[in-house]
Amino acid sequence: MKLLVTAGPTREPIDPVRFLTNRSSGKMGYAIARSAIQHGYEVVLISGPVSILPPHKAEVIHVTTAEDMLHAVQGRVSWCDVLVMAAAVADWRPQHYSPHKIKKLNMPTTLQLEPIPDIIRSVLPNKGKRLFVGFAAETENLQSAARQKLLDKKLDLIVANNVKEADSGFEVDTNRVTLISSDGKCEELALMSKNDVADRIIQWVDGNYSGTKLHRHKGVGG
Ligand code: C5P
Repeated sequence: MKLLVTAGPTREPIDPVRFLTNRSSGKMGYAIARSAIQHGYEVVLISGPVSILPPHKAEVIHVTTAEDMLHAVQGRVSWCDVLVMAAAVADWRPQHYSPHKIKKLNMPTTLQLEPIPDIIRSVLPNKGKRLFVGFAAETENLQSAARQKLLDKKLDLIVANNVKEADSGFEVDTNRVTLISSDGKCEELALMSKNDVADRIIQWVDGNYSGTKLHRHKGVGG
């Protein structure tokens, strides 16, 4: 099986020294890459800027902006059997980029922003039998917001991620998630390590992939 996973934040530059970003550490996406490798998958990891090391056997494509990530995903999606979008893609970017550092005195008090196109939606025409897995990081109405994203983005599985608690979501090593699949099943997982959450996601993928498994080669636990 071939798994394409995105991880980490994106950075949307304002000028050469400033950017908009979010609190994603990349830990969840990297844990998914690691778990998939342990289960015998070939893995391509598309990573925003993070400060953790990727698993040895993953091919890593480093990106900075959401635009870079969009092109990297579009370039690799037809290779994969499974796409997991664990990256926290920025929602907006500055409308104008200043090639020179904006002087403090000239710094505008408002920033003109434009929405960033959705990466998953852009590759839906390539979906075929591929499984598409997304994440929904929410602070309120977790399950209903996640279900809406599952439908809107035509995903097979959404990982509803509670990012409000201190021991769950961004930066920490543990996570509290609910797995909601397009067949209506909903599995609320207890607080566990991101590595264990990653294993549960890969187990779900193993049990739900219906395309050809010719690519599959046995690895640890595979
Ligand atoms: O930002 P949002 O909550 O809509 O993200 C939900 C899912 O969509 C995540 O899996 C994220 O990686 C993906 N996403 C995307 N393109 C964007 C924003 C988010 O594919 N521009």
